[in-house]
Parts: sequence; C-alpha cells; structure tokens
Amino acid sequence: MTSSASDPVSLLTASHSAIDASSAQALLNAAIEAKSRAYCPYSRFRVGAAILACPANTPEVIGGASPKPVVVEAKLFTGVNVENASYPVGVCAERCAFGTAVAAGYPRIIAIAVSTDINPPASPCGMCRQFMREFVIGEDVCVAMMGRKAEETSITEGTIVKRFGELLPMSFGPEDLPSVKDSALVGE
Ligand SMILES: [Zn+2]
Repeated sequence: MTSSASDPVSLLTASHSAIDASSAQALLNAAIEAKSRAYCPYSRFRVGAAILACPANTPEVIGGASPKPVVVEAKLFTGVNVENASYPVGVCAERCAFGTAVAAGYPRIIAIAVSTDINPPASPCGMCRQFMREFVIGEDVCVAMMGRKAEETSITEGTIVKRFGELLPMSFGPEDLPSVKDSALVGE
C-alpha cells in the first residue's frame, strides 16, 4: 500500500460535512461514467469529471457548532473533454463540469473527481486548476484523480486524492483583486 492507495471515499467524506459515503461513491462513479461520453476524436484521450456543488447562498462554514449546523444538499454535475477541429477551442472536462454547475446555480464546489484511462492518473491541467480556484469553497476541497486501475483493479488502488491547496498553492483568487475588496467594503 502506498499513500496513493488511501480509501478515496473515506477521504472525501472526511473533507466536508455535506459528503456522505454514498454521495462520495456516486461522485467517483459519475466521473468514470461521464468519461464514456468524452468528445475527443483528435487526442483519443478520454476525460470524465464529476463535482459535488452547492447553491450560491451556501455559507462558508457548513456543519459548524455555532449557531447550528447548516444542512445542505450537494448536487452532482458531470463534464467531459470536448475537442474541436480548431484544436485550441476545445475545453477540458473539469471546466465543462464547473460551467454546468454554475449555470444551474450551484457555484460552490465541495468535491471533484476526474477519470482518465492512464496510470498513474492524470491530474487537472494548470488552466483548470485556476478555473477551479474561483469556485472551490476552500483549500481543503478534495480532488480525486482516477486512473485506469480504478476501473480494472479497484477505486482505492487506482485513485489519488489531493487537497486543492496541494494542487494550486499560493493561488490567486477573487479576494486578491483590489476592486473586489473595495466593493466588499462599500457593501459594509
Ligand atoms: Zn484542464
């Protein structure tokens, strides 16, 4: 057993109070299942993404002791890589999934799973990490990266789970923009 073989369901459920074992399992399964719909006639590199997302008005702290735990129901959204004959126009599975959640009014992301056909699993590209930074609720959000082994052997053996903050340390986000800070102050 290596550190990459930690049980992804346990890591996901420990990362956020709104994630139970069944929703964690559903997230992982959804990423694998979505991959079958990847549109990748040029690269033949299939990617499926799944995310658990909450509505825009979900508070920063969920399940805290004060004043009382907030119950939220996270929804599952999926995405695939969508390529284009004009190659740079294509979009990654992660950004496809995030855009779908935002469009549905669920822009606060609490967990991410990505499935590819390679071992070790692929990790989200740099552009997607920055895109995610806008919507993940914090650095502790788990990113489960699933390789071929996740399907051929077991999800535990074929999945690497990292915290978002590990994938994009010292990141730049909305609160770093002076204009956003100013407007927040005006709103006080
Ligand atoms: Zn990407």
